[in-house]
Amino acid sequence: MPSRTISTEAVPSSVLHASLSIEPPKIVRAEGHYLHTSTGTAIYDASNGAAVSCIGHNHPRVKRAMSQQLDAVEYCFAPHFTTPAYEKLAKFLVDSTNGHLQKVFVTGSGSEAVEATIKMARQYYVEKGEPERKRFIARDRSYHGNTFGALDVSGHKARRTIYEPLLSGSTSHVSPCYPYRDRRTGESTAAYVERLAQELEDEFQRLGPQTVCGVVFETMAGLTLGAVASVPGYLARMKEVCERHGALFILDEVFAGMGRTGTLHAWEQEGVVPDLQTVAKGLGAGYMPIGALMVGKKVVDVLDRGSKAFMHFQTYHGHPLACAAAYEVQQIIRDEGLVENCRRMGEYLGERLRARLGAHPNVGEIRGRGLAWAFELVKDRKTKEPFPVNQKVAPTIHAAGLQKFEIALLPGGGVVDGVNGDLIVLAPAYNINREEIDLVVQRTAKAIEYVLGPATQNAKL
Ligand code: PLP
Repeated sequence: MPSRTISTEAVPSSVLHASLSIEPPKIVRAEGHYLHTSTGTAIYDASNGAAVSCIGHNHPRVKRAMSQQLDAVEYCFAPHFTTPAYEKLAKFLVDSTNGHLQKVFVTGSGSEAVEATIKMARQYYVEKGEPERKRFIARDRSYHGNTFGALDVSGHKARRTIYEPLLSGSTSHVSPCYPYRDRRTGESTAAYVERLAQELEDEFQRLGPQTVCGVVFETMAGLTLGAVASVPGYLARMKEVCERHGALFILDEVFAGMGRTGTLHAWEQEGVVPDLQTVAKGLGAGYMPIGALMVGKKVVDVLDRGSKAFMHFQTYHGHPLACAAAYEVQQIIRDEGLVENCRRMGEYLGERLRARLGAHPNVGEIRGRGLAWAFELVKDRKTKEPFPVNQKVAPTIHAAGLQKFEIALLPGGGVVDGVNGDLIVLAPAYNINREEIDLVVQRTAKAIEYVLGPATQNAKL
């Protein structure tokens, strides 16, 4: 038998990391808004992973709530039992929509919430007696998750193309609401919205309106398009088209939901209530993996008259520990006025970013709402020509942020079909303050300038 050696030295990781050749920094402690590495660096967590850790790390109230839940019941099988933790979280979510959405199904992630949503939409039409409704319409360059169903509705070509023969192909895509690139010169907001509404109408007609189950949109396009809020009137018009053809209007708020954009649900700002909605990242703030599907009255009523069951379950859905953690996170957000803080600090962050980097020759657009902000970086500001994908501008800025300036940023964009420029997304915690925002802006600017050169002489913090 060959002898085995066990070494405590750095060895190639057994983890299947994003890169097979590079091991990412090892985080040994997380506290407040900082991630501490095994080599002693404290990195400011300005992107909260992927817009997740919205109340910061190591919050004593969440730890206490989780510990109490562990003492009470760590797990039971949700199809057979319920728990006070699941009931409380579901009631909180229903109440947060003023009862427009009436039932909640808690999942283990955003992708699973999207999967559950797709299945719910399909089941709704089968039970309603319209089984021919099998298709979905979503948006180009969108992201709804990495499982097969969620990837099928995603329009992010770079993430889906390799799997394409395996995807069901039941989704087609229309243009996103993306004024920076897609709004024509001189086009009013109203005219732009009308053009997008017409495109959606044309897609319904092309497919046959009676074959469409639902339209799946992000209320605010998050990580792949880079914090693009819908223009006023857009969601209402899209819902109108959708309702005219009897399809469900589905909003994916995995990224935008639970406070990040300055209201608990991003759709509140437009007063457009979805038939089905997903949430995830801001729900559990990273303390436990969690997502949720929220179901509107129209759908609940049909199931209630029909099978009286949702044909979907998973071993870990409605996990008591995840529900208890998420419920406490939501109480903290309420008690500490953090949604309001997102709004106020978001305005300040936008101001500071524009003052510091607005004139940079490679910053095409700085955009955002609440505490979700992004830069679209371009080779040429005038023509909006993106950098070549192989230049890896956003990933290089991300690496510079980590290695030189102790800040965690979220890169994106350049790999999104090579169409939009490279993106840097900022999604700090809801309890950030002005001093920390100054620090985030300063470090972000330094990382960008390190890679792309300085902004103009008179740009200042
Ligand atoms: N939907 C949206 C809008 C997202 O931004 C994401 C993740 O970034 C997902 C779905 C997938 O969520 P998860 O990564 O938790 O599966």
